[in-house]
Amino acid sequence: MVIKKENGRHQVTFDFDRPGTGQDVEPASGSRVSSGQESNKKSEIPTDLSAFVCPVCAGRIIEGKKGVGCANWRPEQGNCRFVIWKEILGKKLTIKNIETLLAGKTTRPYVFKDRNNNKFKAKLRMIKDPEFFIEVLPMEGETVSRSKVSCTR
Ligand SMILES: [Zn+2]
Repeated sequence: MVIKKENGRHQVTFDFDRPGTGQDVEPASGSRVSSGQESNKKSEIPTDLSAFVCPVCAGRIIEGKKGVGCANWRPEQGNCRFVIWKEILGKKLTIKNIETLLAGKTTRPYVFKDRNNNKFKAKLRMIKDPEFFIEVLPMEGETVSRSKVSCTR
């Protein structure tokens, strides 16, 4: 949301180029050009991960069935094992969530399940420790402790 003050009036607009996080996510470099005629049904936007590179080897990032990871996974292409799993502790991540993580940002809070199936709210972020992990950061008041999920397939 953008609030502009013009001639003493507040003008409020919504910035749909940066959906999801409410944080400052850089728009994709080759961002889509809108056709100008938005139909009322949701247009299907193909997943465009070209704005991101693998943090391990700077390779392309591609979407797989279970995760979004490095295109250089074949042994003859470098055997890079970087991936962000599409499901973490019972929460299915959207491509937007994964983009947020790849951009080095922290997600909004979502509901996860611990190993005893107890629900808790947490945010996610990607850390390097020394390999890449997705860190699960429980919200204040939650009794579960921080955990991390490997970004290695
Ligand atoms: Zn890689």
